[in-house]
Amino acid sequence: MAPPFRIGNGYDVHRLADGLELWLCGVRVAHSKGAVAHSDGDVAIHALCDALLGAAGLRDIGYHFPDTNAAYRGIDSKILLARTMRMVREKGYELGNVDIVLCLQRPKVKDLIPAMQQCLAQAMQTDVENVCVKATTTETLGFVGREEGVAAYAVSLLVKTNGSNHPN
Ligand code: MG
Repeated sequence: MAPPFRIGNGYDVHRLADGLELWLCGVRVAHSKGAVAHSDGDVAIHALCDALLGAAGLRDIGYHFPDTNAAYRGIDSKILLARTMRMVREKGYELGNVDIVLCLQRPKVKDLIPAMQQCLAQAMQTDVENVCVKATTTETLGFVGREEGVAAYAVSLLVKTNGSNHPN
């Protein structure tokens, strides 16, 4: 019999360009640059969706929400996260916890992390204790360090529930 736990990971990158909005973990970050993207370019949520989908054996975010589909142009990534959690629960899993690492050189987002965790927890309909967001620079190295892009890693743990008819 399969164990009741499933892990998943996710990774995403978006280019940064002057004058665009920067959204991370569902929160607008004040900055002179933002993510170049078909959606709102929230790398953290995209990595998180892939971690959740991977744990549930549901392929990836591009499969479910293709950037060739005009319906997803400029979409709030929190909507994609909520839809992802619905798919996960429909397959009979409940969230254990998620852990995210944001990689960006600037700006410092330390003070925004509680709001980010709250925002993700709300979109996933889970307790904020189940959501951890961390941020790091890359010590000016690489594309993140040169401020050409922003990256995020995420892992998730899912727990098999008894039925596949979860109310969410
Ligand atoms: Mg993306």
